[in-house]
Amino acid sequence: MTQKRDYYQVLNVDRDADENEIKKAYRKLAIQFHPDKNPNNKEAEDKFKEATEAYEVLRDPEKRNTYDRFGHAGLEGMTTDFSGFGVNLDDLFGDVFGDLLGGFGGRQRAPKRGRSLQYNLEVTLEDVIHGKQVSIQVPRIETCSTCGGSGAKPGTDVITCPRCHGRGQISQSQGFFTMARTCPRCHGEGEIIQDPCPPCNGKGVVRNTREIKLNIDKGVDSGFKYQLRGEGEAGLNGAPPGDLYVVINVAPHERFHRDENNLITSAKISFIQATLGAKISVQGIDGHEELHIPPGTQYGAQLRIPNKGVPIYKRSNIGDLIVEIEIETPTHLNSEERRKLEEFAAMRGESANQEHEGFWEKLLGRHEEDDTE
Ligand SMILES: [Zn+2]
Ligand SMILES: [Zn+2]
Repeated sequence: MTQKRDYYQVLNVDRDADENEIKKAYRKLAIQFHPDKNPNNKEAEDKFKEATEAYEVLRDPEKRNTYDRFGHAGLEGMTTDFSGFGVNLDDLFGDVFGDLLGGFGGRQRAPKRGRSLQYNLEVTLEDVIHGKQVSIQVPRIETCSTCGGSGAKPGTDVITCPRCHGRGQISQSQGFFTMARTCPRCHGEGEIIQDPCPPCNGKGVVRNTREIKLNIDKGVDSGFKYQLRGEGEAGLNGAPPGDLYVVINVAPHERFHRDENNLITSAKISFIQATLGAKISVQGIDGHEELHIPPGTQYGAQLRIPNKGVPIYKRSNIGDLIVEIEIETPTHLNSEERRKLEEFAAMRGESANQEHEGFWEKLLGRHEEDDTE
């Protein structure tokens, strides 16, 4: 497990910062590091997540209190290890997941839509060229299948609260005033679960890791977001579930660079091939492709092999493979080869040696001028 930074340090606020200061500090960081503003920036994404996590805790007085007392361990222990913590499970859920789940069991039975989740999925360039079905494991809160979300043990009833008669509030006289307050028996729900459902402990929801299948379409690129409706966390008390967003990140490829729907690669040819022209074989994403080198090709030339790039999303067209030409200069010439090249130079009216000297003289001359200034 990686070492987590202190939440106050993350938000750059004092330990006694008030709600408003915390909100302001988070806003500032969230705007700075928002993934929409920093596409394909892993560091910004991590900063954004870190700040969001810190804010989720510090904005909530109960969570903040837990964090102040127990640190990260206090919050983590609640989600993973309940045994030996010395705190009642319900209290933990109330503290840590209170606003996440809108309260459990006997608190508020108001419908609350489930949270939407985001899952970052890394895929290969080949995956988005050929398309692929993937399975992802998504940890989420789901409706308890045993009780169907009621929280009551199957075969038992949820009864109307006898204290408030289902109103959720009771009247209390204090001196001259009559005050309404939340019913202490049912905690404002108006209903009481007499026999809690064992798998969910009366909460109606359980934590589960769900395998979800997703088809990666041909042509999608990093930052592409799939919205899977209803695959987020369960809603409470009949409310609809949230959605699951799967955000695609295409891993860098060792041989190809993607430029929209074109693939860019490079090929080395000899200076003879560059001069006279040639047919060479280039490794494409699906094997070897033939490439025609026209005579007189220069270093850095971009030659195109049509329809060997990335399919265009939801269309039948395909991008191109663009080959950037590198020209290799021969080394270790034998005397025969050298003589032939010198002959060639002479035919072209070039003297390799003189040109060479002239170049260096020019360069050195310029340097000296720079130095005197
Ligand atoms: Zn249940
Ligand atoms: Zn009641």
